[in-house]
Amino acid sequence: MTIKFSQEQLQTIRTHAENIYPQECCGIIIGYMALGKTVVEVILTENVWSIETAFDFPTDAKKDGKTPDVLNKSRRYAIAPEIMLKVQKEARSSSLNIIGIYHSHPDYPAIPSESDRILAWQEYSYIIVSVPNGKAGEIKSWHLNDTHQFQEEAIEIA
Ligand SMILES: [Zn+2]
Repeated sequence: MTIKFSQEQLQTIRTHAENIYPQECCGIIIGYMALGKTVVEVILTENVWSIETAFDFPTDAKKDGKTPDVLNKSRRYAIAPEIMLKVQKEARSSSLNIIGIYHSHPDYPAIPSESDRILAWQEYSYIIVSVPNGKAGEIKSWHLNDTHQFQEEAIEIA
């Protein structure tokens, strides 16, 4: 499967990533599936990663919950569940869906981390933009296979 973006949509993600650097930015990708996935809208969201959200997620964060690293938004991201719900509702009212989530990797390649993999949902594409030294670089899209491993998915530019 491929995922199709416009130049403007990719630029929106890059700009968001640069503005939030050195923290991770995140957002929601709205679109539809026909032969491949087509992006209709990119929605910027706040990174709400915190000690509280850390405990909501089934990761290593639980056992390391007391360490300051878990609060570090340069390595983790979370989108508030109520925002996900609101965006899903709005998308459905226009016959669209949430088809993916994007986030940035400050000073790290555009490949999913182990926590990205553990927290990922089967239905979504995961778009990651690498931000070396505050400048948005490579953007890659990933989706899970049947054994919950990430595979790269081609980004088409409309
Ligand atoms: Zn990540």
